[in-house]
This record gives sequence, structure tokens and C-alpha cells, in this order.
Amino acid sequence: MANIAIGIHGGCGTLAPHLLSEVDWAETRQHLADSLHSAWKILSRGGRAVEAVEAAVVVMEDSPHFNAGHGAALTEHSEHELDASIMDGETLGAGAICAVRTIRNPIKAARAVMEKSDLLLIAGAPADEFAQRVGLDIVPNSYFTTPRRVEALASLKAKSARQEIAMASEAERHGTVGAVALDAKGNLAAGTSTGGFNNKPGGRVGDSPIIGAGTYAANGICAVSCTGMGEIFIRRVAAYDVSARMRYAGKGLREAADAVIAAVGSHKIGAGLISVDAGGKVYAPFNTLGMARGWVETDGRVYVATHQEVHAMGVA
Ligand code: ASP
Repeated sequence: MANIAIGIHGGCGTLAPHLLSEVDWAETRQHLADSLHSAWKILSRGGRAVEAVEAAVVVMEDSPHFNAGHGAALTEHSEHELDASIMDGETLGAGAICAVRTIRNPIKAARAVMEKSDLLLIAGAPADEFAQRVGLDIVPNSYFTTPRRVEALASLKAKSARQEIAMASEAERHGTVGAVALDAKGNLAAGTSTGGFNNKPGGRVGDSPIIGAGTYAANGICAVSCTGMGEIFIRRVAAYDVSARMRYAGKGLREAADAVIAAVGSHKIGAGLISVDAGGKVYAPFNTLGMARGWVETDGRVYVATHQEVHAMGVA
């Protein structure tokens, strides 16, 4: 079989190990493995990279353990505004939605924009309406809320009232999910989905729905999905920068991705990404305490991690 590959991230804002119960960590790892399984099933039957990316992201959007879909961050007004994008490295086709409030799986809406419209990015209520028109699941905004996000928002508001916002950890603020895949025909794809960051102002949009910043894929080079403070990733055109370093400077994936994390990190922010090259090598650098992530080796063995320790999760 030709090389196939899948890599995922669940955000670089991972909490310190002692802040969650072992049951919660185990469930987080299991949901990462479930995400990988659903993508691998598609890829191993000859399915397309774009399909695999969507499937992987949907599982993480449906999990309460990640900042995307159910479990997404709350705005300062205790609402959810979600962003997502997807890119097909074969055609350079892409689709994205931002600041949506009712689409159960924002990544599906991003794919629908790519495949069922002439547009690339739709913002706000018209994007919610578009999703409804194409038959996607619509939910009340409260569907996305989890007790952990409510607590995080209260704690951030308290810190900001005491002017201690700089003390708020990355984990209290950030998160995102993303996936990259290589299919048996050599096509690459990337997708990203997020609630942004806790306590964000209404209307704020980060890098996740911006092609080139949070998401990028080009056949023959790489596919990339980023996580970390989006304002910096947009300024650094981070996802595209990984591919540009490979294409124009002849760097390998590891060197290109490390250089981009160093460049973004020079702004004193937490940063991470998941990436795969045209040969199916997956690489997931980050500069924070941890980043939820996972990948499947070419022999089908599944690995996930939230901090340094890597856990084997059986065979896909
Ligand atoms: N990149 C996301 C954003 O800025 C958040 C994150 O990954 O932490 O919206």
C-alpha cells in the first residue's frame, strides 16, 4: 500500500497534569485515539485526505476535552463563536467559516463552503444560515458550553479584575483542534477548528479560519494546522511559512516547522502545530508544557500524548 498518514492536535494550551483527574486525562487520550481511528479507516480504504481530516476533526469537536465544537471557549459575553477551515492540497481548494454560533461541527461547514459554494470564507450569521441550507446539524449556542469552560471564564474574569491577566496560563485561555493527512494517491489536506480563546471579545477572529495562517496544504510539500495565539500566527503567515521554507529553501519538514515555532514563539506566546510531509512523515512541535496530539505509524500503530510521555493506543 502507498504511504498514508494522519496526525492530529488538540491544542497547545494543555493543562498541567495535576489540574485534571486521571479519568479525564484517560478520556482525552481515548478521544484522540478515536479521532485517529476514524481518519485511518477512511485512508486505509483508499479515501481522500480531505475526508480523513474532516472525520478526525469531527471527533474532537464532539468531545468536551478540546476547545472546538462542544467544549469550545466562551467569549467575554459567555457565548461561543467558532472558527474553522479546511484545505485540499491537490487543488489548493479551501473553505472556511468564522464567528458562527449554531453549527454543531464547524469543520463540516468549512468543507461545504469549499465544495458547495464559490466562496472561501463566510462570516457570522450568514455562515450559520449557509450551514443550515446545506443540511448540516444546527444546535443552540448552549450546546457548546461545558462546566470547565464556565469555570475558566470566571477565573479569567477574576484575574483580569485584579489586573493579573498576564498570570493566566495558556491553558486557561487557549486551545484548538486540527488534523493533517496524506492519502494513498499522494494528496495532502489540513483542517483546523476552534472556539478561539476564553474571554475573547465578541467578533474576534483568529488564525484558524485563515488559510495560510492557521491551515495550509499543498501536494508534494506538506499540510499544516496551527495552535496558539492567532494574532501572531496571522502576522507570521505561519502555516504557509512552513511550506515556503520547504519549497523555496529546500528545508525538510522538521527544520521548517521548528523554525516557524521559533519565529512565532519569539513573540513570547505558546505555539504548536501538527504537520505532515509528502512522504507521510508527521511532526508535531510545540513550545508549551504540553500539546494534545496523536499520529498513526505506517504499520497502523496508534500513538497519543498530552505532555512529554507518549502512549501506545493499539492498532488502527
Ligand atoms: N489559534 C486559536 C486562535 O487564535 C487558538 C489556539 O489555538 O489556542 O483562535
